[in-house]
Amino acid sequence: MNYSEAIRRQYESLGICREVYEFGAKIEEKLKERFDTLDQVTAFNQLKVINAMQKAKVSAECFQSTSGYGYNDFGRDTLEAVYAACFHGEDALVRPQITCGTHALALALLSSLRPGDELLSPVGKPYDTLEEVIGIRPSKGSLAEYGISYRQVDLLSDGSFDYEGIRAAVSEKTKLATIQRSKGYATRPTLSVTQIGELISFLKSIKPDIICMVDNCYGEFVEEKEPLEVGADMIVGSLIKNPGGGLAPIGGYIVGKKECVENAAYRLTSPGLGKEVGASLGVIQSFYQGLFLAPSVVNAALKGAIFAANIYETLGFDVIPNGTESRHDIIQAVTFHKPEAMISFCRGIQAAAPVDSFVTPEPWAMPGYDSDVIMAAGAFVQGSSIELSADGPLKPPYSVYFQGGLTWHHARFGILMSLQKLYEQNLVNKNLMW
Ligand SMILES: *Cc1c(COP(=O)(O)O)cnc(C)c1O
Repeated sequence: MNYSEAIRRQYESLGICREVYEFGAKIEEKLKERFDTLDQVTAFNQLKVINAMQKAKVSAECFQSTSGYGYNDFGRDTLEAVYAACFHGEDALVRPQITCGTHALALALLSSLRPGDELLSPVGKPYDTLEEVIGIRPSKGSLAEYGISYRQVDLLSDGSFDYEGIRAAVSEKTKLATIQRSKGYATRPTLSVTQIGELISFLKSIKPDIICMVDNCYGEFVEEKEPLEVGADMIVGSLIKNPGGGLAPIGGYIVGKKECVENAAYRLTSPGLGKEVGASLGVIQSFYQGLFLAPSVVNAALKGAIFAANIYETLGFDVIPNGTESRHDIIQAVTFHKPEAMISFCRGIQAAAPVDSFVTPEPWAMPGYDSDVIMAAGAFVQGSSIELSADGPLKPPYSVYFQGGLTWHHARFGILMSLQKLYEQNLVNKNLMW
């Protein structure tokens, strides 16, 4: 049997018609060179992870579970050495007790800032959940409640840094600058590590002791370099995104200067205890193994994002980033301008999932949103967005944010299934598919 014909039939048995399959194959054909370049980055990052594991002398003993206080948890301490080496930090805090990305960021901020200090975001509005951490939206326990003020300098309309504005915003009080690498769910461009380096150099030229923190969520292993290599003092992220490789069931990390990590550790546990406590509870092996797989998983997610951008761009939809631009995170936005198209897209992603493929996503009211939200996720780890997932608010311009995919072949299938749903509902211009 002809190999590609066998694959086509496999797709057909899963509900993908010939036209959609062939359109996908045509788009993929054009991406060969691009994918080869991604594979080079992955090769580099895979070796970086192995090198870090060898340097830290990872052994089978590291995978043992601890409970209770977790004193002398060898596996936990070694993993933190691996993260420090891999991301070029002096020290690291990598814990299942850090519940999510927002928690890791809150921990980093609340532990480095003191009453009277000011926090600066020189890259515009931060990720939604940070609004409550900072106190932009009032919340219990926010930085604002502790007397820590906040200033924001927006990016210029072309997405570049407002250097004049930043210079004017930095004062005696400015203690820490928070720099979000990924655009998150905004429409600004994602920052490259090189751009982050330029911004940090500028900030330090104005005020050498300013702490530069990078929200690294969705950015890990997308490039060869990470922000600590271009002058950041600490990077912060979630283990149910890129660095957990889809295997970590929970967790967050902070890597960077010894003092930053120490401060965070004393805040996470207790003054006097710091990094010395915190049992790993049997999840530590998945942290190691997930980090080991992370460069490949990020590669799969990036291929999926680029494939989706090219599919939907060819069909006349607005896509951010576009089909050809360079990538600095794993998020892909597709704007449909029609609620039905957005819903069909999400239903396709859900229908292609290994878990919960039989459920139909419906738009729903969610706390913190001013419109209904639709979400598609059929994940092994609940809420994991390194697994193939899509969501967006049901309001104009009807944009879906799409990310993840543990394997390229699953991401590819998910995207074709999203197109299949649009195709069946006559929501795409079929003439553009030939
Ligand atoms: C996901 C994300 C966060 C918050 O992480 P949660 O794990 O959802 O709390 C913060 N910043 C950015 C840029 C993110 O992508």
